[in-house]
Amino acid sequence: MDNRTGNSREASSTRASLELLYNISRELSSALDLRTLLERVLSLSMENVGAINGSIIVVDDNGTPIDSTIIAGDTVHKHTTKRLVETLDRGLSGWVVRERRVALVENTNQDQRWMRRQYEDDGKPLPKSALSAPILTREKLVGVMTLVHPQPGFFGTEHVALIQAIADQAGIAVLNARLYDESQRHAEVMTALAKSASGVSPSLNLEDVFSGILDQTHQAVNSQAVLLALYENQSSALELKAAQSWPKPLVGIAPRKVIGGISMWAAEHDQGVILSDASQDERFSPEEDQPKGVSAHALLCAPIHYRGQVIGTLTAINPKDGDFDQDALLILSGIANLAGTAIRHAQLFEQLQAAHQRYQDLFEDSIDPILITDWNGMILEANRKAVLASDYSKETLYGMPIDQIHKLNHEMVGVDFSELHSGRTFSYESCLCTASGHEVPIQVYVREIETEEQPGVQWILRDITEQKKLDTLRDDLTAMIYHDMRSPLANVVSSLNLLETMLPPKDTAMKSLLAISLRSSERIQRMIESLLDLSILEAGQPVGKRSAASISQIIYESVESIESTINNKNQSIQYKVQEHLPKVLVDQDMIRRVVTNLVENASKYSPADKVIEVGARKDHDLVVVWVQDQGGGIPASEQGRIFDKFTRLKTSNGPKGLGLGLAYCRLAVQAHGGKIWVESELGVGSRFIFSLPIMEE
Ligand code: ADP
Repeated sequence: MDNRTGNSREASSTRASLELLYNISRELSSALDLRTLLERVLSLSMENVGAINGSIIVVDDNGTPIDSTIIAGDTVHKHTTKRLVETLDRGLSGWVVRERRVALVENTNQDQRWMRRQYEDDGKPLPKSALSAPILTREKLVGVMTLVHPQPGFFGTEHVALIQAIADQAGIAVLNARLYDESQRHAEVMTALAKSASGVSPSLNLEDVFSGILDQTHQAVNSQAVLLALYENQSSALELKAAQSWPKPLVGIAPRKVIGGISMWAAEHDQGVILSDASQDERFSPEEDQPKGVSAHALLCAPIHYRGQVIGTLTAINPKDGDFDQDALLILSGIANLAGTAIRHAQLFEQLQAAHQRYQDLFEDSIDPILITDWNGMILEANRKAVLASDYSKETLYGMPIDQIHKLNHEMVGVDFSELHSGRTFSYESCLCTASGHEVPIQVYVREIETEEQPGVQWILRDITEQKKLDTLRDDLTAMIYHDMRSPLANVVSSLNLLETMLPPKDTAMKSLLAISLRSSERIQRMIESLLDLSILEAGQPVGKRSAASISQIIYESVESIESTINNKNQSIQYKVQEHLPKVLVDQDMIRRVVTNLVENASKYSPADKVIEVGARKDHDLVVVWVQDQGGGIPASEQGRIFDKFTRLKTSNGPKGLGLGLAYCRLAVQAHGGKIWVESELGVGSRFIFSLPIMEE
């Protein structure tokens, strides 16, 4: 302790103060690094007044602490932001920040503004004196400096002036250093991101993209390990896709579901997270957040975005030196965003490749020969089956015109394939001309397609040899049956008719037996006539013997011919035939068989005791005839189909038939220039309707 006179004491203290201010101004002009500058200013000030500890806290424009230096004895303490916030909230520095003036604490044990710090002595603290001053520059508060002396009441007015002078001098330098520090940090973030950008997506291979992201993250935030998890196909759980650690690499990491932990939190909240002490945070899950072999104490996690959507997370574990700070999170978030685009592009590319492969497999393995040509008809591609069927090698086929391999139907596809531009598929029968000179019957399906390189035309040449053989066989067989059955049956019918006239009128038993035989024979005769007509009409031949006929008479005669069938089921006929209907010009036999068929079906497909309505009316220049039943009806999906040949609906235990009746009706009505259709409701009944043009006078 100084024991000279008051004057000399004052003079020496003024000298020391001036010396201190001089030294501080030298420090201020030489250092740009904020941390160094704070440490130097603080230790010089502490030395000068004999303080045992002191601090400088630097705040940003919002008053939030962003950096600090605390010296206790010979030790420089690093403070966490959390701790600094507390000091500024409740401690002496907080009071100074709020009041913006110097605070002098005579005895720290007796001043409310004093908050005990952790590094102070344990147990009951010894009383001390403290001095705290705001660091201001041009009315802007940039920080607060506090000095503590072990002796209560030590600081006096000269110390207040001195600390004020230091704080005033330091103000602009601290602000400059702070700004420099900020710009330095921004530059570092930008550099780290720029470096990562080129490393994140050098490839379109998903595995390479993953390992690029892990490497770049590791380098940019200097962490021990990195994990990458992605949402799987609309699922609400993440899946760990890739993980790595340095310098000891991870082995045998298999993809696994991530349903909790910090990465799930970051993904669900779409928010980056810094965990300085993982064990203290309840969001942390050791099972989910750390790969085998890595013990995580600090984590950094950022959501990965693609087009504004969170598609996964990127997690860095354990910083190699220092802490994970806001800058590190900024860098990680930047990499995560780059990663989003790179991952999505690689995934889309993989899907595209898979789709391409699938198409290629389908093309190659198709059981039909398929050829792709350009718009000039030159063959560009041929599948295995096309090579086999044509007998040409693949090389010969390529570049060959399509009309050399089959007889092209120019009428259908148009000149220069102009018809194909409609996008429709055209189909025609043709012949495949093989290399060995054979002609194979084929059904051609041709349509325009979009290939990867250019638009083209796809030709499917289906071999129909077997079908052709069967068709010919069936036609021969039916022709034979019709012709060979027709005349013997006509003999049977005429003999039965003759027999009827020869029977004694009283022999009713014999008569009814004869009637049954006659009816059945006539039915077979009608069927054969219809089948013959069917093949004639199918071959496109016109209706032969037309004559002017009354449709009502045709209706009554047709129903009469099958009256006994209707009576047998105890069904009844209700006529709704308009009077004085105009005549129609028809082959009466044919139209009679149409009505008979419809009424027979109505009876066949309705339960006993029901009513069948048969009607006819004039509608403009048409006569419309209908047969309405009260049967089970026909499903809407089948209504178009039942007029096709051999179509029978799958009704359990229903009556049996050939599926030719309605096909005949359609052909017969159409051959007369009319139309036939059905209106039906399940469980209610069906109404078969056909129209015929009225005969012109
Ligand atoms: P078939 O009666 O010899 O089977 P059709 O060509 O006359 O052949 O009829 C085709 C199919 O349409 C029938 O098998 C039957 O399933 C259905 N069908 C025809 N008429 C009716 C009807 N009135 N009610 C219900 N289903 C019918």
